[in-house]
Amino acid sequence: MNIQAVEIARDQNMARQNVSCRLCGSRLRHGLVDLGMSPPCESFLQAGQLDQVELYYPLNVLVCERCYLVQLKEYVSPETIFSEYAYFSSFSTSWVAHSKAYCGAIAKRLGLGAHSFAVELASNDGYLLQHFLALGVPVLGIEPAANVARAAVEKGVPTRVDFFGARLAVQMVAEGLHADLIIGNNVLAQVPDLNDFVAGIKILLKPEGVVTLEFPHVERLMMENQFDTIYHEHFSYFSLLTIEFMAARHGLRLIDVEELPTHGGSLRVYLAHQCSDRAALDSVAELLDREKRHGLTEMTTYASFGYKAQRAKRDLLAFLIAAKEEGKTICGYGAPGKGNTLLNYCAIGTDFLDFTVDRNPYKHGRYTPGMHIPVKPIEAIEQAKPDYILILPWNLKDEIIQQMHHVAAWNAKFVVPIPFVTVIDPSELRK
Ligand SMILES: [Zn+2]
Repeated sequence: MNIQAVEIARDQNMARQNVSCRLCGSRLRHGLVDLGMSPPCESFLQAGQLDQVELYYPLNVLVCERCYLVQLKEYVSPETIFSEYAYFSSFSTSWVAHSKAYCGAIAKRLGLGAHSFAVELASNDGYLLQHFLALGVPVLGIEPAANVARAAVEKGVPTRVDFFGARLAVQMVAEGLHADLIIGNNVLAQVPDLNDFVAGIKILLKPEGVVTLEFPHVERLMMENQFDTIYHEHFSYFSLLTIEFMAARHGLRLIDVEELPTHGGSLRVYLAHQCSDRAALDSVAELLDREKRHGLTEMTTYASFGYKAQRAKRDLLAFLIAAKEEGKTICGYGAPGKGNTLLNYCAIGTDFLDFTVDRNPYKHGRYTPGMHIPVKPIEAIEQAKPDYILILPWNLKDEIIQQMHHVAAWNAKFVVPIPFVTVIDPSELRK
């Protein structure tokens, strides 16, 4: 079969599944990439679970030809993911610093003060809203995971344990709550009912209020071959074109957009009511134009991404096979969610990686989902002295190589898998 025939067969197969777009309801007939079957990426196993059945779900990513929303079917319920969430945003010092800078800038830009009201959706442990308290701006966090919400309340950040949507927004408005600023950072990808979520935002927002949303930019994901950032906990992947469509559907419109380096390349979009006095800045039209120039309105652009992921898999496996044939030892560095997509898609088990290490003590003594690679403390690298160290959180590679520079003592080399296999010899870098 030639490539075109393969694509036609794949699209016909999709059409038979009769899946409709989470945002606009159109039938989904086109694929972005099929990464096969994978277990949920945060379900690390304890030793006693290794000989039990593991749940695998498809990682088949589809794209809507009408609103361009890139999406996965929702296999894992938000209740399962969020009721006892293991991720506390405040663990990441760079993320807290990023949030503090944002609070100062937006408070100045919108003239927020004691008379204002800021609401964050999925406010986690109060990592962001705490900075508004210091500026004297009243806040409220909405957070579905009770354990992280408790940590926020202990910081003095008022927090409601609930899922946000139209129901809660109506209830809040009935209590006299209206927001000057609504913030949603890295939450949009995890919202199963997007329309209900955005409808809630529309209800809660004051007439001249502003919404800011941050999310990984699907344009960067595609251009830089970041297929491993796709996992079941992320249902949706956005371009600015999709955000424009989504906003218009709910009587909102884009007034500004910024590109951020976080999470491999994110967007921060600013929205206001359709009838607001706020003017749209040139940044919006410029980025929409660029996305069109890069082919994000063409289904063929999305289809070609699947081949890039396959190429990366072959290259990484070829490297690992050659290294093992030479008798080299290999370990991993990090046990992030994206690492599990990569390991499962490429079928890299302990036949290649002896173990991986992580800074999070919660993961020590556990095993990666699917591939069952043991997760150890960082010091295990020092003891094992492997020839190669495969960096799974490649977005932090510079920081990791700097911290682990001492592995040059036994001539170890780092391997970065994305966007394509790169070997880095730390002895050739300046300390
Ligand atoms: Zn759609």
